Amino acid sequence: MEDIKSLLVEANKTYLANFEPKTWFGRCIFLSWYCDVGTCDFCFRSTIKHKIRHAPTAKRNLATILAEGIIGKELGWRLEFLTGGVRIFSFEELLDITKKMSEVYGEKIWINLGSMTEEQLDALKPYVEGVCASIETIDKKLHNQICPDKPIKPYSDMLRLAKSKGFKTSMTIVIGLGEEKTHIENMFKFIEEHKLDRITFYALKPVTGTKYTKSPEVEYYAWWIAKTRVRFPKLEIMAGLTPKRPEYAEMILCAGANAITKFPVVKQFGTEVAKSIEIQAKNAGRKFIGSMTKLPKTDWKEKVTALPFDEELKKRIYDKLCEEIEAMQKIRNKKTDIDDD
Ligand code: SF4
Repeated sequence: MEDIKSLLVEANKTYLANFEPKTWFGRCIFLSWYCDVGTCDFCFRSTIKHKIRHAPTAKRNLATILAEGIIGKELGWRLEFLTGGVRIFSFEELLDITKKMSEVYGEKIWINLGSMTEEQLDALKPYVEGVCASIETIDKKLHNQICPDKPIKPYSDMLRLAKSKGFKTSMTIVIGLGEEKTHIENMFKFIEEHKLDRITFYALKPVTGTKYTKSPEVEYYAWWIAKTRVRFPKLEIMAGLTPKRPEYAEMILCAGANAITKFPVVKQFGTEVAKSIEIQAKNAGRKFIGSMTKLPKTDWKEKVTALPFDEELKKRIYDKLCEEIEAMQKIRNKKTDIDDD
């Protein structure tokens, strides 16, 4: 067994030679909870419980989605990508949401909305910086078993097309699905061939009703990240936490991840868990940009008023925003004793 400690030292050194000692939280914003594929065997969307609770028509409303974006921007959470909603929203609706979210952030954003046609990519170009494809696991045989209705090829084709049109590109990979360490070479090949700008790792979170029962050990998860950092010194690496394993944070940052993602930041706002992630970032020698524990003194009304949307939408966004902020304040006041300074 390779010495993980020396690998982490090498990965951290590589990170620091190529990036500033900073980190942040990257947040995915979901457009719907339902997924039209719904057969990937590790995913909670493949369970009966999910299918009953989330009908194909269950869309999140626009005001809620945009309110989430405004809060994220103010708190310094970068938008990892917009995701979900494929074949639930029409493409015109997806385009409109993407445009409005880029207006909220005041910059082009990233999307992970399934495979897109050339025409669709062209329409999205003014609002989109990067396109992500959820590959999940890289070994073809394993992928066919795990994601029988989500072949890699259409995603691979889209990534190449997107790259040729000047988009940045990325993929997501889940660790703990039964992959072998030897599969890492296939993953490196995929990154090279597609000239990816970013990769997002997730540690499997076992879902009741699936055949999976445990998350990967943190050292094993960190191994994938660290090997990737050493091989690709300038690649942006995002790494997900799982709600039950926030103690991953320090090690995955030391393994060379740029930033963390997949943490229920609103539900956990200001809690001891959120606080511990910020502390772990510090222990890893990184300055944490933004906050998962303190609300800024923002004039939310002014923020919403300044947006280029119609008055009715702005009112709905503001109402939702107030609800969310109040809920975050309650969680924070209940579960922590963090001082405002
Ligand atoms: S992994 Fe993605 S595509 Fe597969 S069922 Fe889950 S949400 Fe749908």
